[in-house]
Amino acid sequence: MPWPSRRICPPPPAIEQALIEIFGESVRQVRVIEYSWYCALHLGARATTRRNRILVRGSAEFFWADTDLILHEYFHVLCQWQPRRLTIWRYLVESARRGYWHNRFEREARAFAADHHTRFCYLLKPGPATRKSSISKIDTPDLLSMMHAPSADRLDYSEPATPVPHNLPMKNDAC
Ligand SMILES: [Zn+2]
Repeated sequence: MPWPSRRICPPPPAIEQALIEIFGESVRQVRVIEYSWYCALHLGARATTRRNRILVRGSAEFFWADTDLILHEYFHVLCQWQPRRLTIWRYLVESARRGYWHNRFEREARAFAADHHTRFCYLLKPGPATRKSSISKIDTPDLLSMMHAPSADRLDYSEPATPVPHNLPMKNDAC
């Protein structure tokens, strides 16, 4: 079966908006490329990153359905590659010293994804046009009552987040 065409796939609008809320900056410069040969060369990897690029092994559709992976990879690009904290050389040195799981670039990305996953999923839920502005208008007592109402569309930070490696197969972790 021939390898599908490599293609740049912009994020769906809701995901782009949620990423802007999470990272506090535009994500337009980050290109997500599906069916990447480069990624396929990294055995077992579902995605890999370079400056302003996320290279996905399979279809972008699966990438956009994996909320943990999205946060993990955008963190690599926006918070590590972009400020030049991450370079190929530094990553190789770090991996040689500590391996994949314990290298600091991966630990940081896993921690960020775990810390922001619940909020990211909340921002992606269908609801008011802009959740940020709707929440900012609620004063504290109303927010508290909303969070304690059993059927309310609430924020729930009690759910444990399980960090997963981005280059190992995993079940779909979509919201
Ligand atoms: Zn990673």
